[in-house]
Amino acid sequence: MKKNILKYVIFVIMLSIVVSGCSVKVNESTENKTDQDLKISKNSFSLNTFNTITLYGTDDDSYFESIYGEVTRLENKLSVHISGSEVAMICDNAGLRPVKVSQETFEVIEKSIEYAVLSEGLFDITIEPLVSLWSIGTDNFRLPEQSEINDAMELIDFKKIVLDDENSTVYLTEKNMSIDLGAIAKGYIADKVAKKIIELGLDSAIINFGGNVVLLGEKPDGSAFQVGIQEPDETRGGIVGTVTARNISLVTSGDYERYSVQDNTRYHHILDPFTGYPTDNNIKAVSIIANQSFDADALSTTVLLQGLEKGLAMIESLEGVEAIFITKEHEIYLSEGIKDIFKLTSGEYIIME
Ligand code: ADP
Ligand code: MG
Repeated sequence: MKKNILKYVIFVIMLSIVVSGCSVKVNESTENKTDQDLKISKNSFSLNTFNTITLYGTDDDSYFESIYGEVTRLENKLSVHISGSEVAMICDNAGLRPVKVSQETFEVIEKSIEYAVLSEGLFDITIEPLVSLWSIGTDNFRLPEQSEINDAMELIDFKKIVLDDENSTVYLTEKNMSIDLGAIAKGYIADKVAKKIIELGLDSAIINFGGNVVLLGEKPDGSAFQVGIQEPDETRGGIVGTVTARNISLVTSGDYERYSVQDNTRYHHILDPFTGYPTDNNIKAVSIIANQSFDADALSTTVLLQGLEKGLAMIESLEGVEAIFITKEHEIYLSEGIKDIFKLTSGEYIIME
């Protein structure tokens, strides 16, 4: 955990340097400054990750109360790990009865099913029994027995989630089934936070939920934001390149983000529902750029599961979505529409044509 905190601090500093082009100290004296020069950042730990929100054009930290309040409000509905949350209630009632949920929880589950269909079951929120069996990245991690993996896999099937639009209920048809929105909820919440920031009268911000980034608007001087794409080899901690953009979300999934090690083998947190093991292909990390963080988050997990060839084909087939793939061999593959806004900065990587 300590190592992760250190890695995060380095990452935030790198990101801040890239993003601001100058200093990480954002709440400086406001004397002789125009609104354009003002900005303020706040870090927190929620959604099981480290978060930073930077607001531009203000140095008033009272905004953060309602912004982080929004994060907590949604996490309390969507997290399976919070007892009494709507998702926990759905799981508690698996095989028993449908559970009435808010429109927000309904919407996230509905979208998750769309991505399950699109990925032919690779992305599947009913993966939860397998996620908790492995408990990768937690103190409870252990290598499961094959029979336990088989039992957990039996419970994975998104087709057994019954949605009732009219009554706003969700029903898991089998006992012991459960759902985990970890691959999509951060994106959904990031979009909601962006909406909240606009409601508060601001129009320029960077929301970063552990690599799930929303660039809201542009910098107050009218220029685009610049975001660093993290170098995925954990021994380094630098960036491979930058993306210059405004008003988009950029979400990264990687095999380095959460993992456990046993007998010199690394087990990372994105699991293949068809093998029961962490997915194993040539992708080390993938960053998705989309208008909505909701989609970018679901797609980053989906594409990591699909692998390079299928993943790139899927991205190219979708309107308004771009991707940066980093392979284990330090190759970078770019979708067509991102070539103009991605700049390689590391000599350790090459862009493949
Ligand atoms: P991160 O949480 O590191 O940003 P992701 O968005 O890719 O990364 O989500 C990974 C999380 O999604 C896992 O920690 C787990 O809770 C869940 N998950 C793992 N495998 C799958 C899968 N095949 N389909 C849907 N969710 C998954
Ligand atoms: Mg995701």
